[in-house]
Amino acid sequence: NKTKAYNFPYIISRFKVGEGIFDIAPFGSGHINDTFLLKSTVGDDYLLQKINHFVFKDIDGLMNNMVYVTNHLKQKSANPQSEVLTLIECKNGKYYCQDELGNYWRMTTFLHNTKSYDLVTTPKQAHQGGVAFGRFQYLLCDFQPGMLVDTIPNFLNIEKRLNDLNETIRADKAGRVESVLPELDFLQSRADSMNEILQLGKAGILPLRITHNDTKFNNILLNQKDEIQCVIDLDTVMPGYVAYDFGDAIRSIISTATEDEKDLAAIQLNIPLFEAFTKGYLSQTVSFLTEPEVKSLIKGVLLLPYMQAVRFLTDYLNGDVYYKIHFTGHNLQRTLAQMQLLKMLETNKEKLIGIIESEYLSLKMAQQAGSS
Ligand code: ADP
Ligand code: MG
Ligand code: MG
Repeated sequence: NKTKAYNFPYIISRFKVGEGIFDIAPFGSGHINDTFLLKSTVGDDYLLQKINHFVFKDIDGLMNNMVYVTNHLKQKSANPQSEVLTLIECKNGKYYCQDELGNYWRMTTFLHNTKSYDLVTTPKQAHQGGVAFGRFQYLLCDFQPGMLVDTIPNFLNIEKRLNDLNETIRADKAGRVESVLPELDFLQSRADSMNEILQLGKAGILPLRITHNDTKFNNILLNQKDEIQCVIDLDTVMPGYVAYDFGDAIRSIISTATEDEKDLAAIQLNIPLFEAFTKGYLSQTVSFLTEPEVKSLIKGVLLLPYMQAVRFLTDYLNGDVYYKIHFTGHNLQRTLAQMQLLKMLETNKEKLIGIIESEYLSLKMAQQAGSS
């Protein structure tokens, strides 16, 4: 029972929340932080999170990022209290504190009458997801990326991920390299083309923006009408390329199966959900995206499953030290599922490009008609 492990009265006393009495219970289905709902018997409810400091080494930098980003978003919002996370200040003047065990804690107001889903099932939801993450990028496109630190250095850097894989192959700690040669071939044969976003970035053709970098559907809160209310989980907000957010959202939305599907034939593409997300996303971003960025979106769609396959296989070869596994070979099964998804995406690439481009063109035309 997680609620027993911490000294909540002490932790809560570090925050400026008055003398409230709270019922405390674990909340949500996030995998990174430990999240608790503080239900007040008299006043406001709060969400208390233990920040995972094994994943995030620079908590001070991370929380500074979060303060900058939420302040910027709040300035632009008509309803800053309900549409943007509100951090609670601590008595030390910062927005996080440490308990006696060295854990890091932060608190936000609890947003009532909202819900988050782990899985997208309807085009309407997919569309709202696209609107949410597109609008998030749009609202931050005038923010200087240099103000934010990388909360996980090289998080979506495929060059770094492939270097890690190669080192792991050399070390072959678990003695598994011999058994995955076809998979390694598959990944190696695509290494150059998967480097394109980074190359275009280095060449100054793709601009660095502020991106969310964890665009899972359960990182947005919807209101009772299933419309976007608030983008949450800002831990990985940092400089990045727009195609990363697009690609990572599509990775889960477009697949008809789960991330570790065993039956590869069950991994098909849900094109209507792709189209709905794309429409929502472009509706918010058409005004600022450059043409190279629009062209890069499909590269992100291919890159993110590829990168995930590289990471799963690296962990498999390392002897399963990073991702939690439920059986021997789980990381290999996850690798195969991501590779299968990538194959399906490659086969349907032209179709997906067609959807992105026709939607972009019609929005552009509408924009020009509106401004002339
Ligand atoms: P993790 O990094 O572990 O995924 P999140 O910040 O995404 O943590 O929070 C976990 C879950 O808690 C979310 O998916 C959402 O359901 C819920 N949640 C987070 N912040 C709020 C909030 N301010 N109000 C209501 N629910 C929230
Ligand atoms: Mg989350
Ligand atoms: Mg998170």
